Amino acid sequence: MVTLEIKGVSFDYRSIPALRDVTLSVGDSEILTLLGPNGSGKSTLLKCINGILRPHRGVVMIDGRENTRIGRREIARMMSYFQQQGGRPLPLTVFEITLLGRKPYMSWTPDREDLKKVTDALKLLKIEHLATRYFTELSGGEAQKVRIATAIAQDPEIMLLDEPTSNLDLRHQLEIMQIVRTLTRHGVTAIVAMHDVNLASRFSDKIVMLKEGRVIGMGKPKEVITPKNMKLVYGVRAVIHHTFRYPLVTPVEPLES
Ligand code: ADP
Ligand code: MG
Repeated sequence: MVTLEIKGVSFDYRSIPALRDVTLSVGDSEILTLLGPNGSGKSTLLKCINGILRPHRGVVMIDGRENTRIGRREIARMMSYFQQQGGRPLPLTVFEITLLGRKPYMSWTPDREDLKKVTDALKLLKIEHLATRYFTELSGGEAQKVRIATAIAQDPEIMLLDEPTSNLDLRHQLEIMQIVRTLTRHGVTAIVAMHDVNLASRFSDKIVMLKEGRVIGMGKPKEVITPKNMKLVYGVRAVIHHTFRYPLVTPVEPLES
């Protein structure tokens, strides 16, 4: 179990303000989703949490320690980070790529536990059959699953997932989110940046809505998915349906800004 607190975090890329005074606490074993239009600061916030970027103001506290004071290897044992852009694909097999998730634990050779965690992660994603295939030769959806398997093999307490369901078909989107849900039942805390409001509504314990680097709304799906927030955050008129235990959104039209 690990606690995560983000206190007054601001970050600028030179003159571009990307985060402005973001404060939130993340509950243990929950799925917290970041929603917001392109450029609202979701990816920047995940990078500040991971410590790849250092906030210009404010702090990220993990178990009461400032993340910038924790070594990279220790951070990597605590949290994994699925990046929105996967970077240049390495000419390695799926098995080898997934084994990279064990790097924070390994000395020069993988041990039994490393191999088991890799196998378990591939099985969880139902991609064992791809184990010996080259990562560079996979379809977009397959490659995405491999990167998620790598993040899981890392055996983290916190998972940062930047648009893990983008570019996937409906079935794969549901599979990924169900896996994230299962992991949180086993004590993992997940922070997920997403565009699909309905998928977020169904799977999130808490949603944080960002706009221009600011937190506009925070709470349970039924508290934050409102016509007012859809207008404020996305600039659309939307109808909210309350047929299920979570609200569903139909975006109707863009509003004049
Ligand atoms: P999101 O993930 O919500 O789309 P980002 O965190 O990627 O948002 O971006 C937030 C803001 O920071 C945007 O205005 C974006 O243009 C800017 N930004 C992001 N990355 C960089 C960068 N490497 N250099 C300069 N500006 C950046
Ligand atoms: Mg992003």
